[in-house]
Amino acid sequence: MLLSFVIPVLNEEESLRRLSLEITSNCHPHAYEIIFIDDGSRDASFAAMLELAKADSNIRIVKFRRNFGKAAALDHGFRLAKGEVVFTLDADLQDNPVEIPKFLAKLEEGWDLVSGWKQKRHDPLHKVVPSRFFNFVTARTFGLKLKDYNCGFKAYRGEVVKELNLYGEMHRYIPALANSLGYRITEIPVEHRKREFGRSKYGLERYLRGFFDLLTVKMVTQYVKSPLYLFGRAGLISTLLGTAIMIWMAVLKIFYGLPISNRLPLFLGITLILGGLQFLSLGLISELIINRISPLRGLPVSVEKTVNVSPEELRESG
Ligand code: UDP
Ligand code: MG
Repeated sequence: MLLSFVIPVLNEEESLRRLSLEITSNCHPHAYEIIFIDDGSRDASFAAMLELAKADSNIRIVKFRRNFGKAAALDHGFRLAKGEVVFTLDADLQDNPVEIPKFLAKLEEGWDLVSGWKQKRHDPLHKVVPSRFFNFVTARTFGLKLKDYNCGFKAYRGEVVKELNLYGEMHRYIPALANSLGYRITEIPVEHRKREFGRSKYGLERYLRGFFDLLTVKMVTQYVKSPLYLFGRAGLISTLLGTAIMIWMAVLKIFYGLPISNRLPLFLGITLILGGLQFLSLGLISELIINRISPLRGLPVSVEKTVNVSPEELRESG
């Protein structure tokens, strides 16, 4: 079996040699390829990769012109990967390649994506706490219970990575994307090590960007089929609520002769109706757009198997 290792690298010059050694010594008896993606490093990372690639023809390297982000690096690596199983690992040695056989054993059980869970995490508190929160929100949003969505150490059945389309900070939501395509996902605890060299690339601003990508992924996985379900529901509730308030105001005015022009509910009612109608029309416009742009029409479909189906049979079964 061929194992592909896709490794995004941003300024990790000190780690690469040891990383590739650790990987190759844990692959046995399988063949391997290592794909390093240099995501715009400004240190000697690329020189280190070149040297490794010269010594081992199973190591392939790609250099981005500038920093495009981890998601873009993974996406590119996924396109190049030829393995029946594709691993991703961080380049900073925090993930320990001795876990490789455990991932393979899990895939063997029939899972399509096995995600690492940094059970004992060796990162500073200001990373661990927001990450807990992130995992809680993400699990709730997508209804897929994982304790560690964004672990860099994951193993995929080869076909899974070919269907992912990652950009921005979307690598955080890979399990949710794969889940929406119908793949079976599980989690295993993995050893996590302290960062010995270089610095973490992730600060609080990435979490903010990550939040926007949460919205995007939610939209792309769940509402791309019919955005009106999302906008329509909010719009309808708001419009109906506003209308109810306006009827109440009208009753006060007409039957009880009370002045209503200075009442707060009047303005609330107007706002709810206008806002609601806007949401409804936004939903309808989205539907129109999606209906016109063919690649977006409906959810992406992921076919598991096609077994000898003739056109006649298809027609008969409707
Ligand atoms: N990385 C990357 N591009 C970026 C940021 C990070 O390729 O824009 C790589 C980085 O070199 C490492 C992995 O992504 O291999 C995870 O980054 P890091 O270790 O800094 O994240 P942390 O473990 O601190 O969350
Ligand atoms: Mg790290």
